[in-house]
Amino acid sequence: FFHAPPPEGPPKMSSSSTTNNSRFLMFFDFDETIISENSDNTVVNLLPNQQLPSWLLDSYREGHYHEFSGKITAYLADQGVTKDALLSAVQKIPPNPGMLDLFRFLQSHQQDFELVVVSDANTIFIETWLEHNRLGHLFRRVFTNPSHFDDSGRLVLHPFHSHSCPRCPDNMCKQAILHEYVAVREKERGGVGFQRVFYVGDGSNDVCPTRALGPQDTAFARRDYPMHTLMMEMQQSESTKIKANVVPWVTGADIEDYLGNIMKER
Ligand SMILES: [Mg+2]
Ligand SMILES: [Zn+2]
Repeated sequence: FFHAPPPEGPPKMSSSSTTNNSRFLMFFDFDETIISENSDNTVVNLLPNQQLPSWLLDSYREGHYHEFSGKITAYLADQGVTKDALLSAVQKIPPNPGMLDLFRFLQSHQQDFELVVVSDANTIFIETWLEHNRLGHLFRRVFTNPSHFDDSGRLVLHPFHSHSCPRCPDNMCKQAILHEYVAVREKERGGVGFQRVFYVGDGSNDVCPTRALGPQDTAFARRDYPMHTLMMEMQQSESTKIKANVVPWVTGADIEDYLGNIMKER
């Protein structure tokens, strides 16, 4: 669907001179993709003994990670971990190797790339980290679970949306987000689609969106992480094969090299 024929009838003129008509659209996961850790693990390290009690760990249900994250933030608040401690721990999470260079590269080609974050973390963690690292301006949108601090200082998480995808956790299907975003942007761009879509991720919930990608598109899967492992398995069978190019990455430099070659094709 990314490469649908142009809409019928005369092309519509763009209504705004500021309309961004980048050739490429690039989605980034956050935890363990942009940043080098899972932000939930980072904040658990703020606990006096740096671990969750077994009753809480045992309450995790497969496919209900969002609900589990909410229990973690509630427990942290109960244990006296303050909002400031939480935010400063999130700010200090290191980016993955080569990611800052990749963002510099993307910034230097900002007329070509439209960047979006799509993550099962939450608004406060992601905005805090991006602002602290002066990267917020690079992203046109951040799709993630809404969050806010309540009066007791607890970080409350809300599900991003509801959807009908049987493969994804209740609170988020990244493919649904990607579909919707691409459709809205094409409309805003007067029917002009993106030449290529890129998706960078590491986790099992990064597989579903790559099913919507076409042969011009590329899924960057962090090598030996669940997304990569699952996609390698899927490539074995015609029925589950991904149409997009699948490119494993270890550092941001791998992604930058690949994009550099695409830029030369022009
Ligand atoms: Mg991730
Ligand atoms: Zn899905």
